[in-house]
Amino acid sequence: MRGTFAVIDTRAMEDNVRAIRGVLRPGVQLLTAVKAGGYGHGAVPAARAALAGGATALGVASLEEALELRRAGIDAQVLVFGRVPAVGLPVAAAAGVDVTLTSDWATEGVPPCSPALRVHIKVDTGMARLGFRDTAGALRAAEFVQSRSDMELVGLFSHLACADDLASDHAPRQAERFAAIVNAFEAAGLRPPQVHLANSAGTFRSASWHHDLVRVGISAYGLPPSADFPVPCTLTQAMHVYAVVQRVAWLDEGETVGYGATFRTARRTRVATLPIGYADGYHRVLSNRGQVLLRGRRVPVIGRVCMDQMMVDVTDVPEAAAGDVATVYGMAAPDVWNGGALQARTGADVAQWICDTFRAHQATQPSVLSLTEVARAADTISYELMCALAPRVVRLYV
Ligand SMILES: *Cc1c(COP(=O)(O)O)cnc(C)c1O
Repeated sequence: MRGTFAVIDTRAMEDNVRAIRGVLRPGVQLLTAVKAGGYGHGAVPAARAALAGGATALGVASLEEALELRRAGIDAQVLVFGRVPAVGLPVAAAAGVDVTLTSDWATEGVPPCSPALRVHIKVDTGMARLGFRDTAGALRAAEFVQSRSDMELVGLFSHLACADDLASDHAPRQAERFAAIVNAFEAAGLRPPQVHLANSAGTFRSASWHHDLVRVGISAYGLPPSADFPVPCTLTQAMHVYAVVQRVAWLDEGETVGYGATFRTARRTRVATLPIGYADGYHRVLSNRGQVLLRGRRVPVIGRVCMDQMMVDVTDVPEAAAGDVATVYGMAAPDVWNGGALQARTGADVAQWICDTFRAHQATQPSVLSLTEVARAADTISYELMCALAPRVVRLYV
């Protein structure tokens, strides 16, 4: 093993989904977004955990992502949020995948579908991304779907742009616009069984936005929609990333570290090298800004983050040594992993041992480096860091 790995806590995901269900209006269904490989956690394990926690549907960005779930034997409702071109529609129908009618394929000439294609109509109430811009267009699309014997009108939805910003009235305005469109559909006798609007932030912000179904992503992975957002239930971060210290060395005062020599030591400095870099998803913007946990303490990233490696200053952690495990995101590495214990194990046994010791220490390991905090240092959001975790980072599922 290269010494870089992620522990994905699928039980935490399951518990998160169950906790979110607890704040829904009675009877409201829950869809979990597992697009982008389950926000970097792995689409199939994330989907299974969400379903185990009580989700009844899954959301993906593309037909290809939907088919990956079907190939894994997942037969729950799957909705493709993005536009599926007309040629893909018979494929979606055959796989029983729900698609979004975003504006245009109504006029493209849709090939016959069998069994009936399950369609959700998307309306643009203030995101300016996809969907019908006006009620009349959305109603015409619904009539088109109704007119086809090989299509079934299943849903009507919109997406909130600013639900996490409690100071903004953008989301309430979108919700009002959406409610008016739902009323128009009802008046025309076209109300589909699944009306949905809320993402994680919208779900937590107002029960009146739940309609028939909520679509949660980030909260299922255990993170708040934004740093200070008040989440009304307990969430646990599911992604934990670790890197085994490759080398520890003493530098003299005045030496420089890394490409571009952007860090110069102001004292004799002990530097530790970690096998994780921007190609693993640890963004280069965290050069001289990020922190990791080592032996229970925070240590700063010094110098530029390289493609495959980076350096941290461990001068203040005198016991730090090669073979220790640094926590890049998530729960502090259990002490039993340190001192080369992890690298001493070989073969299939190491993965099981990591999972077992992770679980054993979870309850007593209070210190956590949250993705929200690292994202703040990187001037981005936790979503982006999760999705950036590269395929080459081995994921261990507990
Ligand atoms: C990704 C996505 C969601 C989930 O949003 P979160 O903020 O992660 O809860 C919901 N709806 C749509 C259309 C999405 O693309």
